[in-house]
Amino acid sequence: MRTTTFGRILEALPLIGQGTWEMGESRRSRAQEVRALQLGLELGMNLIDTAEMYASGDAEEVVGEAIAGRRDGVFLVSKVLPQNASRKGTVKACERSLKRLGVETIDLYLLHWPGEHPLADTIAAFRELRDSGKIRYWGVSNLRMDDLAECERIAPGENATNQVLYNLQRRGIEADMVPWCHPRGVLIMAYSPLDQGRLRKPKQLKAVAARHNATPEQVALAWSVRNEGVVTIPKSSNETRLRQNAAAAELLLTPQDLAELDEAFPPPRGPVELETA
Ligand code: NAP
Repeated sequence: MRTTTFGRILEALPLIGQGTWEMGESRRSRAQEVRALQLGLELGMNLIDTAEMYASGDAEEVVGEAIAGRRDGVFLVSKVLPQNASRKGTVKACERSLKRLGVETIDLYLLHWPGEHPLADTIAAFRELRDSGKIRYWGVSNLRMDDLAECERIAPGENATNQVLYNLQRRGIEADMVPWCHPRGVLIMAYSPLDQGRLRKPKQLKAVAARHNATPEQVALAWSVRNEGVVTIPKSSNETRLRQNAAAAELLLTPQDLAELDEAFPPPRGPVELETA
């Protein structure tokens, strides 16, 4: 698995990690989900993204089961819901997540999206959690440019990431967010890199995939992490697709590939409203 060491997170992360949205929703699929996450770890996708929101905490329990006895080497990301993200509520939410995950520390703790609580209060709680060793880094998700800049004003040099929707079909962040984040060392963590299974597969995408003896989804993943400063977190509970996702990190797209993909999925002409769904 290719890795990156970028910006404010001072260690190597896999270019392709694992998402967990929709895991933990049914008892029947739980064992398969645990096995999937464990296989993903064996394949080097050792960044696992979860949230207190997913299956109302049950996704965190699935992750906890998957990493039990193999915590070392896993980079664990979880998120606080905006309605819990007050000065005290953030600390309590994190403690509940730690319990469900069965760990003492979350590596990267994010505000899931901005809500009613002032960013300064959430950040104060993140600092307290970091100082007490319950989290190692903090970051945000679904923050627009103005909120990102406010984070930087409140806590210069601290916010490690903005986790945002980014895939071939949703390229809006390339106009403003990517050029803002990269020089500051704020990692972009691309969610829904396959557009939740809705990825169109025009002939150009199929042609690029055929040239690499790969699937269109593998090309989409390789494309999302083509530039420094971006990692991605596809979700899969299927062994074949997990293997494909891990292998996609090794796929290097050529200038011709990128030009053909630009034609099929044009980049933004200027700043656009941040997409979240
Ligand atoms: P996604 O990863 O774009 O797509 C997941 C879907 O694609 C699943 O149906 C999966 O099915 C399928 N899939 C996975 N690998 C595939 C492959 N190689 N070929 C074909 N199909 C494949 O969507 P997502 O789950 O929304 O996003 C990924 C993660 O990002 C989430 O799980 C979550 O951790 C995070 N996220 C964060 C936010 C946020 O607000 N911060 C929002 C959305 C998502 P199978 O499982 O059957 O393979």
